[in-house]
Amino acid sequence: MPTASLIAVGTELLFGQTVNTNAAYISEQLQLLGVSVLYHFTVGDNPGRLKQTIEYAFEESDIVVTTGGLGPTQDDLTKEVLAETLGVPLVYDEEAMARLTAIMNDIGRINFTENNKKQAWVPAGAAVFYNDAGTAPGFALEKGGKTAIALPGPPREMKRMMLQSVIPYLSEKSDAVIYSKILRFYGIGESALETALLPIIDGQTDPTAATYAKEGECAVRISSMRRTKEEAAAAVDAAVRRAGELAGDYLFSTEDEDLPQVVYEILRERGLTLAAAESCTGGLFAGGLTSIPGASEVFDRGFVTYSNESKIALLGVRPETIECFGAVSGPCALEMAEGALSRSDADIAVSVTGIAGPGGGGAGDGDGGGKPVGTVFFGIAYNGKTEVRERYFRDRGRRVNRQVCVLEMCDFVRRKILEEK
Ligand code: AMP
Ligand code: MG
Repeated sequence: MPTASLIAVGTELLFGQTVNTNAAYISEQLQLLGVSVLYHFTVGDNPGRLKQTIEYAFEESDIVVTTGGLGPTQDDLTKEVLAETLGVPLVYDEEAMARLTAIMNDIGRINFTENNKKQAWVPAGAAVFYNDAGTAPGFALEKGGKTAIALPGPPREMKRMMLQSVIPYLSEKSDAVIYSKILRFYGIGESALETALLPIIDGQTDPTAATYAKEGECAVRISSMRRTKEEAAAAVDAAVRRAGELAGDYLFSTEDEDLPQVVYEILRERGLTLAAAESCTGGLFAGGLTSIPGASEVFDRGFVTYSNESKIALLGVRPETIECFGAVSGPCALEMAEGALSRSDADIAVSVTGIAGPGGGGAGDGDGGGKPVGTVFFGIAYNGKTEVRERYFRDRGRRVNRQVCVLEMCDFVRRKILEEK
């Protein structure tokens, strides 16, 4: 497997003014090509340190990809330093100059300055990648069995060049293909999942399986590198089936879909519509579901009932229920779900009421009634039955707590429908 290191060039990255999103994008693309990324370096606009970094990166890897520092100004020096480090002169590129002239004419700058012309110079023998989204060309340069690839810094230009030039360039050189699938799991922690999947993780060189935790859920990437796509896909599919046998109860997608997307599909396939009654999530569930194109086919309405009064007025929750058990309680979640079902046109209604934190959990604190942050009750009314789930989530801060509630609502709906067949 060829190896690569990335060097992001730009003082703004070191200052924290710009987030190095290029590294994430390029790594993901290289990994899909079967290139193993070993290092991410970030270096400022400093020729000495850039040279050192390039030298070190080449010692460690076959391919070095730089982003940034290809522009016209004084501090853009990636190309110059790369060429010098590899001992290759810069040559004038007619096509680059013609394109540069055309762009400058377009924007009405007939007499562009010397420093603009700098962008028409490329290392001798390089494969030049012309830039469709900006002025600076990128390139690939082979030297002594190593490959240097230089890409512009602006993410839009970099992505275009990756897709149009770099991926075809590297695929051409490679005689292997990589195929991977991302499996998503809910309701199981990362270490438990890894333990469950040990038979396909332990001692496997191909396909490989790597787990990673996402907010409130887990994902597993299963990849194979073979001579043909068919062989790689067959190896991955066999491992996916095995993962289904080992941890199928938690597996909700083998196509890297998120939970709201999966819920949407299940509802659509069965021709069911859904209503939601939300307290602590304040409409986040409805927001997630309705961000999916076509949601109107499956989503009837959402009730955001934050206050006790609104639960009573909009959902018909009984005042005694709230008085006796509190708004954050199983009986309240149950009545919220039943109310949402009877007051809508939906086939199924889901509800949530809980303590998202940071406040609201203290003893005697209104609705929390002394319940700790992360205490959440869910209700589902479907097929003439109502069911309640109670959960005591670890407090991960208000934003994540609310997000986890949305996932749990999705999981509840998904399981309930699949159970009923
Ligand atoms: P440069 O090609 O170095 O002139 O970079 C131009 C602009 O691209 C910078 O001002 C940043 O906004 C952006 N940029 C450069 N490098 C990166 C990176 N690694 N990730 C995200 N944005 C970047
Ligand atoms: Mg720069």
